[in-house]
Amino acid sequence: PARTRVAPSPTGDPHVGTAFMALFDLAWARKTGGQFVLRIEDTDQNRLVAGSEQQIYDSLDWLGLSPDESPAKGGPYAPYKQSQRLETYRPFVEQLVADGHAYYCWCSSERLAELREEQNRQKLSTTGYDRLCYGKTREERAALPGFSETPVVRMLIPDDAPLEFDDIIRGSVKAPRPDDQVILKADGFPTYHLAVVVDDHLMGINTVVRGEEWISSTPKHILLYRWLGWELPAFAHMPLLRNTDKSKISKRKNPAARLMWFKEQGYLPEAVRNFLQLLGYAGDEEHEVSTFEEFVENFSWSKVNTVGPIFDLKKLDWLNGAYLRSLSADDLADQIAAFASDTGQWVDPNDEQLAVLRQAVPIIQERLVLLKDALPQLDYLLESDANLVIEPTTVSELPDNAAEILDAAIEVTGSVDFDAASIQADLREKIVDGMGIKPKFAFGPIRIAISGRKVSPPLFESMEILGRDSSLTRLRSLRA
Ligand code: ATP
Ligand code: GLU
Repeated sequence: PARTRVAPSPTGDPHVGTAFMALFDLAWARKTGGQFVLRIEDTDQNRLVAGSEQQIYDSLDWLGLSPDESPAKGGPYAPYKQSQRLETYRPFVEQLVADGHAYYCWCSSERLAELREEQNRQKLSTTGYDRLCYGKTREERAALPGFSETPVVRMLIPDDAPLEFDDIIRGSVKAPRPDDQVILKADGFPTYHLAVVVDDHLMGINTVVRGEEWISSTPKHILLYRWLGWELPAFAHMPLLRNTDKSKISKRKNPAARLMWFKEQGYLPEAVRNFLQLLGYAGDEEHEVSTFEEFVENFSWSKVNTVGPIFDLKKLDWLNGAYLRSLSADDLADQIAAFASDTGQWVDPNDEQLAVLRQAVPIIQERLVLLKDALPQLDYLLESDANLVIEPTTVSELPDNAAEILDAAIEVTGSVDFDAASIQADLREKIVDGMGIKPKFAFGPIRIAISGRKVSPPLFESMEILGRDSSLTRLRSLRA
């Protein structure tokens, strides 16, 4: 059974990439009867953002990608937050130093910056740390310039470092030679590289799924596993998601890189999850709409794209529409109401308005793309007659024969059986057939009277939902 993990850093709004990794982690764990772990990697204390950790839990729960073990849930390998595991890392650092695989470095940040500058100026082919501290005692090093009191610990990367490794998506992968990576910082915190290896090992993680930007770090991790005498996990480096212009999506450039954005827009979590499934698998056109269970059933690493999948929101819109259509009208009404109340779009709707929403949902369900669009489309049905707003420009564009049309509509509305089909048939008979006005022109003024707009959801159904009295009031009000 696979034990997988996602290991986000709580440095801001959760990234859609975190959900992308979590989806594949969870699918593989479910497929093999294993577990999916969420670990919070908060070793970079300068970058922590308050609230970010909670948002990670909330957004994964929202997507149905809840972990089996996490800081919030606990589990057999708790704590699952690196800042609470500092004591765990230290003995391994000491062991690596004692074994000669790592060494103390007292170089000040000023010296390291100068070194980098000098290397850039000389355009050296081998850059990185120059090992000034290697093999020196504290006293020996203190006698030289650029000394800092509190040392860091660096890996001593050997000449025969493993630069090629197996990836379960990509096969054999090559990475560049690493620098003498810092593994313990001056503040006593481990760096990501040490903490990730120690935790993945101690937590029994046997499949590491992460973004391809970590390929260049993997040789360092493999060395640490080797030095500590631990079995290597399998590595799966997922492609980075790309914008339509092929650039990597990032929160700074694309609002959709923020996981919460999807919720705010009114996408259904099922649609977002399905979208992420499609991004992972190249050209699986036949199975575009598929449940998580189906995804797990057919899961295979060999199907995963290695070329950066294009984050095409048109596809997501299409999927969301498909999921919205698949809901019962009552379920959709509940989703719309919940969304509207969560986002403050609809404050304290009353029972009557909720009942109207349930009745009205079928007339927009076919074309609805986002939950957030539902109420604005239906507002004229939820407003009282007195509050219906008709823009003066809309009124000014009424045709010359609007009064005649409205009079005829008032007459029909007063007597017709009040269902959409009868309303349509009788209005058509009276105005199109009787007065010789083309359908294109016949219903415009009626639509404006009823909805306040030139374009609206289906007119006759709208009248049926409003009822006879309200429809008459609205027709009369525009006529006056
Ligand atoms: P910024 O938006 O500030 O550029 P970022 O978007 O690059 O930052 P990071 O904070 O660097 O986001 O990364 C957060 C997590 O999201 C990491 O685990 C990273 O692997 C993942 N990630 C970042 N960009 C992508 C992407 N384009 N596709 C998939 N995963 C990504
Ligand atoms: N903390 C790392 C990140 O935020 C985890 C990378 C990994 O999965 O190894 O991306």
